[in-house]
This record gives sequence, structure tokens and C-alpha cells, in this order.
Amino acid sequence: DVRVRFPPSPTGNLHVGNIRSALFNYAFARHYGGTMVLRIEDTDLARSTDEYYGNVLESLTWLGITWDEGPDVGGPYGPYRQSERSDIYRDVVARLLADGAAYPCYCTREEQEQRQEKAGGDTIGYDGHCRNLTAEQIAAYESDGRPHVIRIRMPEGEVSFEDLVRGHVSFDTRNVPDYAIVRSNGEPLYTLVNPVDDALMDITHVLRGEDLLSSTPRQVVLYEALARIGVGSGRTPLFGHLPIVMGEGNKRLSKRDKGAGLEEYRERGFLPEGLLNYLGLLGWSIADDRDVFSLQEMVEAFDIRRVNANAAKFDHKKCEAINAAHIRMLSTEDLAAQITPFLQAAHVVGTPASAEEERLVLGAAPLVQERLTSLAEAVDKLAFLFTADEDIRIEEAATLKAEEGPVLEASRSALVDVDWDHAAIEAALRASLVDEMGLKPRKAFGPLRIAITGSKVSPPLFESMELLGRTSCLDRIDRALA
Ligand code: GLU
Repeated sequence: DVRVRFPPSPTGNLHVGNIRSALFNYAFARHYGGTMVLRIEDTDLARSTDEYYGNVLESLTWLGITWDEGPDVGGPYGPYRQSERSDIYRDVVARLLADGAAYPCYCTREEQEQRQEKAGGDTIGYDGHCRNLTAEQIAAYESDGRPHVIRIRMPEGEVSFEDLVRGHVSFDTRNVPDYAIVRSNGEPLYTLVNPVDDALMDITHVLRGEDLLSSTPRQVVLYEALARIGVGSGRTPLFGHLPIVMGEGNKRLSKRDKGAGLEEYRERGFLPEGLLNYLGLLGWSIADDRDVFSLQEMVEAFDIRRVNANAAKFDHKKCEAINAAHIRMLSTEDLAAQITPFLQAAHVVGTPASAEEERLVLGAAPLVQERLTSLAEAVDKLAFLFTADEDIRIEEAATLKAEEGPVLEASRSALVDVDWDHAAIEAALRASLVDEMGLKPRKAFGPLRIAITGSKVSPPLFESMELLGRTSCLDRIDRALA
């Protein structure tokens, strides 16, 4: 049975890097009918907050990524917040010490630095000084009141594993020093709790970012020790390290970069399905000639062995284009419902929207559907429909010229008693301005667009006029002429 986990640290809001990991784990779990575990890695008490914890749950829910076991829903391997698992870690550490897989280290930082300097500065990290302390030496340190950390004893030789994405990976343990798993104040470190929980929660596959590849050999050694002392399932999970995501200037996308935080996408009105689709393309593809797909389609097609090991570039334009494709797939009702909160936040429509505002939003949604890369863009594009006639301001760049007065007068006459639907409006205006007056369409309808919308660019003019109604349109023309 496939069991995967998404283990965010609630020390910040979710960003595209960890959402991509959540997505790939989700797709993998659902593809095999497996189990998705949400585990909160909050052992860093100083930086973890309840607010970030709540934000993680809320963000995943918004994205539509579901989990089967977790701190809110429970499950057979709980608790799922590491801050509630201290007793478990204390017990595991005691057993690791008894087994000799771990040992206490009393070296101070200064002592380590001095030894490193003496050695010419070319040793990597901790030198193993306390590896083989005798019981007497330990007793002496303790009676001196010296604090200690606890370290894992790295074996000699090679640690290797078959990565599901990168193939055979091996590390020479001479380059991997004995590492700390417990701080001198007794706090367990990520290096301990992450693999211990993977073992205890019977995780079968660890899919995570390549930035964590260098910690994997240490974890493999710890899994083996845990198996030896009978903690957890006894088997080391299979690893798949997902490719690095590159941002601007070919540097690794950092969670602080623009375009990295989930909040930004929500504020701009990205659809969860659009964002997930784009993140699904960071290292994976559904087919050579296709890049728009639903989450369900990703689940059906997902194959971890087809994830590419090469770095993936985060392309904002492409992300917008994918989102635009998902916006185009919405029904009119759905799109109207989804842009309404953005119009409300901008005070373009009321909260709640009036019946008349609802009618306008529903009518306007198809007019902008093809042109939106995100929902928030609907605000600027549609505000003119909801603005009182007397408040329409003509943009500076759209100022009407003197010779355009007669064109507007003629437009007005053509509109006075035409049937009020967009086809009839267009036909009447064409007959009068293009056929009779001999104007080119741009010259003919440009002034009218400015009078009605205040701008040179707008959603389709005749449809917009139909929505606004005759009285409003004539009023706006009169005000532009005045
Ligand atoms: N808490 C770690 C993180 O958010 C988990 C890493 C992992 O997937 O092992 O980076």
C-alpha cells in the first residue's frame, strides 16, 4: 500500500516549491489509491505559529489537495503534529543511544573550531571526537555540568539508493560527518523527527524537492538504525527528489521571491486548478503536445518515473497562460460567481450584490472571459458597467477630439429608437457612421467607446451597451458632448 506524506513546517505560508511537492505526492497517492498523510513539522517552536498552521490547512483546502490522515482528521499513526510527539522522540533517542547508533557529544563550538584549524581547516564538519568516549569520560563531562548534543554515528563507506527520479545516487560517508539529532537543550531536530516519523507512519515513498537530496544519505543511515532497534515498519522508503525550480536570472526560486508565495496568486485571482496545472508542469508533463489538464487528469496519468531530473524554470507568462486556459473553461455562471468577490473587494459592486449588479456581472462575464489571465483583472475591465453615468471619467489618453463631436451626435441619433440588442445596435451604427458618413470602423466607433467606457480599450462595445441599457448610453454620450 502506497503511503506518502506532505510535511510542511508552519514557519511561513505555503509557496510554489512546497505546493509542487504536495501536488506530486497527492497525484502519486491518488493514482495508486494510496494514503496521503499531512504531518506538521513544528519542532522549531520559536518559528512555528498557529496562524501558519491554520494557513497550511486552509491553503491546501483552497487548492483542492486532500489528505486522509492529519492533525485535523486524525488517523491511526497520530498525533500528526510533531510538537505533540516529544515522548515518542525521547524514547527513540534513548534506544538509539543504547544501541550505539547515536552518542552524546560534549564538544563546545570553540573546541571544534580549534581542532578544525589545527587540521588545516579541510575537514568537513564534525570530526567524530566524542565517538568513542568511555563511561568514565562521560561521567566526568557530566559532573562538570557540560551540555551535550546527540549525534548519529555515520558508518564508513558508501550510502546509496535508487532514486525514483534520478536513478542510482551514492554518497561517500567520509563527506557526511556525524550529525546532531538532539540539541543541547533536549529539543529534537528535523534530522531526527523527519525520518523517525516517516518510519513510524509507515511511509513508503518520500517525494520532495532536490534541495533535500544532501540530507537523504544521513536519513538512510538513520532508517537502517531504526529498523535494527525495531522502530517503525523496518523498511526504508523509496525516494524521489523533484527537480529544483529556477526563478529569475537562473537562480533557485526562493520562497521570498516575487511570484513564490501562494497568497499572491490568490489575491490576483488565480484558479486553484490553473495554478496546480502549471505547477504540475514543473518537472512533469502529461504528453508532448499538451499542457492544459485538470487535477483528475494529472492523477490518472501521473508516473513518478516520468518526472524529469533537470531543473525546471518557473515561467510567469506561461503560468498566466495556463490559468487563462482554465478561466476559459468555466461556465458563465461559475465565472460570474468567481469574479464577484473581486468586484466586491474593489467596491465596484456591493456586498451583497444587488439583483441589478448580479444581472450585469452575469451578462459581463462572457465579454471578458477570453481576455482574463486572472480573475482580479475583471475589476478594471468591468468597472465602467457599474459606475454611475455622472461618474464616468474619460481617461487622459482617450480625450475626445473636436472633430469627433459630429460622430458622437450621429451615433446618438442612430441609437434613439433602435431595438436594444447588440446586433441591432451594431447594424444601426454601421449604417449611419460607416455607410452614410463613410467613416472607417475605428474612427466611427472609437469616440463612442470613449464616451461609454471612458477608455480606448474595453470589452466588446455593442454587447456592453446592450447590458448598460439605452438610457445610460444616451446619457453618457450627452455628458461626453457637453
Ligand atoms: N518540513 C520539511 C520542509 O518543509 C520537510 C521536508 C521533507 O519533505 O522531508 O522542508
